[in-house]
Amino acid sequence: MDLKISKKVISTEKVECNLCGSSKSEYVTDGKDYLHNCTNQNFTFVQCLDCSHLYLNPRPKINQIDLIYPSDYSTYERQFGKKGTFLTFLKDFILVNRFKKIEKYLPKKPKILDIGCGDGAFLLALRRKYPTSQLYGLDFKFGSGVKEELNQANISVIESTVENVKFNNIKFDLITANQIIEHVWDVSLVLKKCYKILGKNGIISLETPNPNGWDRFFFYSKCWGGYYIPRHLNLFSKKHLKIALEKHHFNILEQHSLLAPPCWIYSLHFFFASKGMTKIGKKLFSDTSIFWLATFALIDLIAKFFNAETSNQKIIAKKNN
Ligand SMILES: [Zn+2]
Repeated sequence: MDLKISKKVISTEKVECNLCGSSKSEYVTDGKDYLHNCTNQNFTFVQCLDCSHLYLNPRPKINQIDLIYPSDYSTYERQFGKKGTFLTFLKDFILVNRFKKIEKYLPKKPKILDIGCGDGAFLLALRRKYPTSQLYGLDFKFGSGVKEELNQANISVIESTVENVKFNNIKFDLITANQIIEHVWDVSLVLKKCYKILGKNGIISLETPNPNGWDRFFFYSKCWGGYYIPRHLNLFSKKHLKIALEKHHFNILEQHSLLAPPCWIYSLHFFFASKGMTKIGKKLFSDTSIFWLATFALIDLIAKFFNAETSNQKIIAKKNN
């Protein structure tokens, strides 16, 4: 049994559907913070009865941000491995490879903002590709040494939430936000802001969990990795993500399912944690195990071959000027 039991109380708020504004919803599932154990509270995902969007309700208030993102908080990307290892090489390769889908829409020397840049690995990979472009990384908290490393690569660093950030007269050619939109409190505000700071024909590229991922079926009750309670506030199906962007004057260029081995590993961790066996889950399904990452990637690849949706998705859209 896990001995670490947190007693913190997270203050919550009831909300309406972020997508259509309806207050009518029905229960889908509930669960706890199986990753950081920031509280003992149970949180509930509901589905909007008018548009079927999935969201956390009640959800933590924004002033609880430091409680639900404790100082030892690390995303999967951030804990993916030490520099110079095969895993970091693999991560770089995947990031750069996925970028190929975007680069055809960009000018030769694009001005790029990465929202939620984490350890900056993606920006550093982009710096190798674009030695003289203006690159910006935004995150609400940076790990030690990250800012210095990015500054050394001539990448501008901004420490702020996306809701509060201000840009003076900078217009970007591209905004990337990978695994971010599901975390933000005000999706509309963030998309409006992205629209405003993109230049003419600017591109936005988002990656976010897909609740229609086929593997959610196996972990439907409480522990699917994409729930990530209580930090994922909105979970967008492909249809709903498209609607959200179109509502904010973006034209969709491409939408894809992405392989989602990290989500599988989270699901298994959360499953074991929900049974009080956190350590066993982490030991059996290490998040840095090449074997499991490759196995789940292969399983998702086969699912994609049969046209199934996976638990991760990418959307690329263009600003409707
Ligand atoms: Zn709705």
